[in-house]
Amino acid sequence: MSLQKKISILGAGQAGAYAASEIRKYDKESQITIFSEESYLPYERPPLSKECIIGKKNFEELSFFSKSFYEVENINIKYQAVEKVNFEKKILITNDNQNHNYDSLLIATGSKNRQLSYDKENQDIKDNILYLRNIEDCKKIKKIIESHNKFAIIGGGFIGLEIASSISQLDKTAHIIEMGPQVMGRIIPSQIASMVSKHHENRGNSIFVNSNILSIKKIDREYQIELNNNKKILVDFIIAGIGSFANVDLFENTSLKLDNGIVTDEFCRTSEKDVFAAGDVSNFYHPFYNSRMRLESYQHAQNHGIAAARNILGQNIPYNTIPWMWSNQFDLNIQLIGICNDFDQEVQRGDSFEEGIIYIYLKNKKIMGACGIGIAGKVGRDIKLAGKISENEVEIDKKQLLNREVKLNKLLKK
Ligand SMILES: Cc1cc2nc3c(=O)[nH]c(=O)nc-3n(C[C@H](O)[C@H](O)[C@H](O)COP(=O)(O)OP(=O)(O)OC[C@H]3O[C@@H](n4cnc5c(N)ncnc54)[C@H](O)[C@@H]3O)c2cc1C
Repeated sequence: MSLQKKISILGAGQAGAYAASEIRKYDKESQITIFSEESYLPYERPPLSKECIIGKKNFEELSFFSKSFYEVENINIKYQAVEKVNFEKKILITNDNQNHNYDSLLIATGSKNRQLSYDKENQDIKDNILYLRNIEDCKKIKKIIESHNKFAIIGGGFIGLEIASSISQLDKTAHIIEMGPQVMGRIIPSQIASMVSKHHENRGNSIFVNSNILSIKKIDREYQIELNNNKKILVDFIIAGIGSFANVDLFENTSLKLDNGIVTDEFCRTSEKDVFAAGDVSNFYHPFYNSRMRLESYQHAQNHGIAAARNILGQNIPYNTIPWMWSNQFDLNIQLIGICNDFDQEVQRGDSFEEGIIYIYLKNKKIMGACGIGIAGKVGRDIKLAGKISENEVEIDKKQLLNREVKLNKLLKK
């Protein structure tokens, strides 16, 4: 019987791949196995809605690490879906009916797309609505965009808008249908949401906010979508990006504690012994905000996977990273750090995309969050600095922020 410790990682996404690589940095002995239901080397998803659709990136370029990296580091990837987890016996059962026992388990199953609900008569319409989560979805969407012209995008969130931006860059048209009063939800300041909407409209896309779908009919080869505000849209295809939820189907009716994802503490520990969770799937306790959150962002998934790895190895390091995320649409880059909907003062710095526009949110004189928009590369530095100032809990006078001569790095050093 092998005495080697067995560390299993369920899910080969951003969190899973980075966790495996981090474990190996410190632990050269343990057996590390990643279980993947997809047939690709672990890869990044953000380009799927952007560069991959417009043909600026190939799918082969999306891998985090090369095949030889996993071989050299002795990280085993099993291309089998896990169908059951027995937490008591510490066993994973894969879809080829094999049992795999573990000493430590990291769950990194990501999130799942929310599907439009439809009545039975419309089943054929439902079956033709496209969603984007993985390479296979992207291949399908890319092919359909190439051979059609008009698309409805249901949901004006980040992924929907990014797909719409890609469609427009291919000289096709996207009609974005959003039920809320603005695009990108409440986490993005309304000023930035309306700049993004205008940018889409100036490039030929249309945006329908406060819009509910009353019906979808297939008329010949087109879909007619009727909205609540007496609008009708005729399109060739429908793509939906209406949000997602934690991918926890496997754990329903098990002893693992779930609540909007897998409940974890600041050390990525779940309610089960020797079981950790990271990335999109985890609803984790954030010590800095003294609250729980579940994030769906690239950087978080990576850092959270790394934090889980170090805690699996017993390093006891709390995960306290300030949340950061970005979206690219057309030539614009939007970045968000911290929390932008809990504040008593708002400050705008900059007033053009060329120099970058940033809204900074203060509460009790401390930065809670910041959101910026600009031509790629213009807001990144200041957004990161705003995050650092927030993390360091520096007290700031609004007047200092209003004065563009005062650089944010000066405030950090205060
Ligand atoms: C199209 C798209 C665009 C995005 N763009 C951005 C962006 O611009 N900026 C940003 O910050 N974030 C973006 N994101 C979000 C970001 O990619 C995710 O937050 C990140 O991938 C989450 O990583 P993860 O490891 O938690 O989960 P995932 O990357 O989703 O990986 C989970 C993996 O687990 C596998 N799995 C699930 N169940 C099983 C099972 N039972 N057995 C085996 N394997 C299983 C899944 O198939 C998947 O491969 C985007 C996401 C998508 C889909």
